[in-house]
Amino acid sequence: MQEEAKGSVNPTWSKSMTSTTTSNRRLTEEEREHAQAILQKVRQEISKAAIGDEQLVWAIRRYVYIRLQHDGRGKPAQRKILKLKKMVSQKGKCTLCGKELPERGAELDRYDAMKGYTEENTRLLCHSCHREDQAKRGFA
Ligand SMILES: [Zn+2]
Repeated sequence: MQEEAKGSVNPTWSKSMTSTTTSNRRLTEEEREHAQAILQKVRQEISKAAIGDEQLVWAIRRYVYIRLQHDGRGKPAQRKILKLKKMVSQKGKCTLCGKELPERGAELDRYDAMKGYTEENTRLLCHSCHREDQAKRGFA
């Protein structure tokens, strides 16, 4: 049964998409300085907009933070739909160990973090496989 689950994923594709092929883009020294300047500017803008109101600082910071996260990860509702699609296409099994995925708590894993949460770039894993894989890739 487990072998069948693994076999349902194209082995060559799956192999070529493993951890070793992907590494996240890093900033050069110059780019990091530019990014720091952007961050500094955003902080100043928030501070200016909030005019000393600490609760407003908190609310604006949270608003900006969440939107920036959505830019990179998509909205939670989109990820939820993707999870359901993956659950169906993987027949409810973890891509790595082939075991039945829990109804809640199965985790979307991106082959390449920069390519986002698309059907092609993700697989659904059980929590322990995801944690192990992340550790292997040096993300945890
Ligand atoms: Zn697993």
